[in-house]
Parts: sequence; structure tokens; C-alpha cells
Amino acid sequence: MLQILVASRNAKKLRELHRVLHAAGITDVELLSLRDVPEYPETPETGATFADNALIKARDGVRHTGLPTVADDSGICVDALNGMPGVLSARWCGKHGEDATNNALLLGQLADVPEERRGAHYISVCALALPADLATAVGLPEETTVEGVWHGTLRTEPRGEEGFGYDPLFSPEEEPGTTVAELSAERKDELSHRGKALAQLVEPLKQLAAARKL
Ligand code: IMP
Repeated sequence: MLQILVASRNAKKLRELHRVLHAAGITDVELLSLRDVPEYPETPETGATFADNALIKARDGVRHTGLPTVADDSGICVDALNGMPGVLSARWCGKHGEDATNNALLLGQLADVPEERRGAHYISVCALALPADLATAVGLPEETTVEGVWHGTLRTEPRGEEGFGYDPLFSPEEEPGTTVAELSAERKDELSHRGKALAQLVEPLKQLAAARKL
């Protein structure tokens, strides 16, 4: 069976990536995580854009494991902050991945921003990188990037326990009365930036899986 590395250290994000790919019918593929492969040194995510960072992670995976690798780089862009935190979303409070502290800081920054100016959107760029010989054999590009965007607004206090990151603050435009942290996993996947991005990788991944069987 074709093995694909999903290169993320964020356990909750990884779960979403696996869920969305399985739901899309990518079933005759074994999805591995960084825990399933020998540890390798990861290049710092110093890119200026989501695509740069997604490609850094996907290329690392191919280079060190020889496996086709999917990576996501994502974040939230807040209108009243001119699009920030953007690529700095994971470490907005100064430390990496401290969700509650990031959320408290963002709420404080927006304390005086009225309802009508609390717009924000999530962005996910997913990269698929392939070993060069496999790409040639299958007729796919060595690198593919796809993007998904999810619009909504930021509330004035956190609500809900599901999801991760800024989800307790973000009300999507399709469900303005709830936060993403109050949505079921399935509903989040259906609407989310990551779901929309990954949907565009389903075809190349199916092509890859089919070519492996020949
Ligand atoms: P990355 O792992 O470097 O791509 O960082 C992504 C960061 O963006 C996360 O740590 C979250 O702070 C934020 N983020 C991205 N996607 C989501 C999401 O679906 N919900 C909530 N926060 C997200």
C-alpha cells in the first residue's frame, strides 16, 4: 500500500488532516505521521508566506524519508490587525503553540474593536511534495500547493471545547451563532480552510495511489 507522510507535530491538526483525507476516500493509502518515521532535523519555518512554510515542511519529509509528503501551514488573518497574526499565528504570544495565551492576547488587542470590524479568516496552504523519480513515473509535478480560506468573525470571549488554536474565538460565516470550538469535527471539516485545501489534493493523491497499484 502507498505510504504518505503527513508532516505535522500538532496532534489536533494531524487528526484533522487524517480525517479529511479518509473522508475524501483516500483509503488505499497508509497515512503516516512524524511519530511513525525516524526523527529527522526539521528546517525552521522562516518563510514569509503560508506556501513557503508548507513547502519547507513537505520538502523536509521527502528529503529525510523518501515518502510523498503532505504538509499544512495555516493561520488566522484578522482584518483589524491588517492580516496579522497570519504566518505568525502559532507563536503570536511569543511562544509556540500556546493556544490559550494566544487567544487571550488577541482578545485584548481587539477589546475596543466593534462587532462590524471583527472580521477574520483562516487560511490553510497544503503542500504535496513527491520524490523526483516518483513524480516523473506518475506524471505529477514534484510540488503542488493548494489553498483554502474560511471567513468569519471574532467573538469577544472564548466558547467551546472542540478544535484547537483560535477556534473558541472564531464564528464562521455559515454558523454565525457558534464558534468553531462548538462545531462537530465533521462540520468543521466540511467548512474549514483545511478541508477546502485538502479537497484539492484528493485527485493527485488518488492518481498516486492508483499508479502504485499498476
Ligand atoms: P502551523 O502549525 O505552523 O501551521 O500553525 C498554525 C497555527 O494557526 C495554529 O497553531 C493555530 O494557532 C492557527 N490555526 C491554524 N488552523 C487553525 C484552525 O483550524 N483552528 C484554529 N487555529 C488554527
